[in-house]
Amino acid sequence: MTFDFDLFVIGGGSGGVRAARLTAAGGAKAALAEEFRMGGTCVIRGCVPKKLMVFASQYSGAAVEAASYGWDISIGDFNWVSFQARLKAELSRLEAIYTKNAGNAGVEIFHQRATVKDAHTVVLADGTEVTAKHILIATGGTPFVPQNVSGIEHAITSNEIFDIPELPKRILIVGGGYIASEFACIFNGLGAETSQYYRGAQILRGFDDEARGHIAEVIKEQGIHLHTGTDVESIAKQDDGLHVTSTDGNTKVFDVVLYATGRTPKVDGLGLEAVGVAQGRSGEVVVDDYSQTNIPSIYAVGDVTNRIQLTPVAIREAVAFHETVFKGNPMKPDHANVPSAIFTQPEYGAVGLSEEQAREEGPVEVYSAAFRPMQNAFIEKNERVMFKLIVCVNTRKVLGCHIIAPHAGEMIQFAGVAVKMGATKEDFDATVAVHPTMAEEIVLMKEPVRVHN
Ligand code: NDP
Repeated sequence: MTFDFDLFVIGGGSGGVRAARLTAAGGAKAALAEEFRMGGTCVIRGCVPKKLMVFASQYSGAAVEAASYGWDISIGDFNWVSFQARLKAELSRLEAIYTKNAGNAGVEIFHQRATVKDAHTVVLADGTEVTAKHILIATGGTPFVPQNVSGIEHAITSNEIFDIPELPKRILIVGGGYIASEFACIFNGLGAETSQYYRGAQILRGFDDEARGHIAEVIKEQGIHLHTGTDVESIAKQDDGLHVTSTDGNTKVFDVVLYATGRTPKVDGLGLEAVGVAQGRSGEVVVDDYSQTNIPSIYAVGDVTNRIQLTPVAIREAVAFHETVFKGNPMKPDHANVPSAIFTQPEYGAVGLSEEQAREEGPVEVYSAAFRPMQNAFIEKNERVMFKLIVCVNTRKVLGCHIIAPHAGEMIQFAGVAVKMGATKEDFDATVAVHPTMAEEIVLMKEPVRVHN
């Protein structure tokens, strides 16, 4: 049987573009359909614009600190409109690069929606039917917003946040995960009165408890009104703003309500049910270790599979898919010890297990230090950083590393290499400190603060 393409990818995000590019560059015929903008969530409305907003939001604090370091600096208001124009131009530049690189590799790009018709056929929005030996679903995810809240239509999500016309004076962020915590810090830094409501007892569920507590304490000290154990009951739009009534009985007024309550796989209307592609409870495409679905010609990578919702993981999955299917080299993407960073301010970088997870697996020693770094101590700023290692008593291996500090995202990349290699506490101890830095603490913690037998 002949096909129009060897591979048809649905979705032009990090995972989809990588798979299509590698396939075309390797000499096979690859096509890709994207209904929105090339680059996907990461480039267009996720990691990249978020990080640029993090940079923008850090200057207010830096300016205040600079004064304490002797600089005569005054900082005015943040100009949202000029920043936004620059941000949009940058995203367009990156989108163009994504499109160009895929095109240069030989990928045929269809700038329209595609759905699956059968095991080897895709239908484009203009009605064209295209056949492919393999189909790769890489449609990513979409923000989840609970619909049981009265007035929820007045809330926005991370999809819309970059396009709001002006900087809100008062913003409410709902949720306690990555996106909520990052945007709380961003808007606080930009000068908005920022509140964060989280339904549970502590933000960042799933991460190390001590680290979660540390972050919550720091961001509250920075002025974020963090209310845990609090959820939204209703939102009413009135002339003076959005009146939000919460489960603690209070009603407060905000200009913007941002819901960051998780993301679900983007599968609506893709045709998966008709073809018989197995899906999980959240709609995720169920795949095996090689990213293959129950329909042998259909594969899926990235957020749509709801494994680990991170760009670099989607890219690894795409590479493994390509090796497996097009290079005869069966490869499983490795989901163990994936480092990640939450771009709160300060950042939280983590790799491996939390203290709580590690305790479940056996006896562990916990090394932890929280202190005012030199840069803060000099200006009598109380904000502390935190360095933490969790060590297996039996093997001496470092099972988890948690860092809360400026640039922790950069630090955890390197700590991640050590943890991935199976470094022991003694390997860390044997490494000479880089002085004077904050990060030297990671090789200087001599006595465990706790031992769990
Ligand atoms: P998360 O899963 O991190 O957090 C979702 C939050 O919403 C949780 O606090 C959850 O509470 C809460 N929530 C869920 N449902 C409801 C509800 N019905 N009502 C009220 N609160 C609710 O999702 P995010 O949206 O923050 O991010 C999605 C994913 O994107 C992340 O998991 C991450 O993988 C990725 N991401 C990564 C980033 C990075 O690497 N820096 C940055 C941004 C996103 P509870 O804990 O109680 O369930």
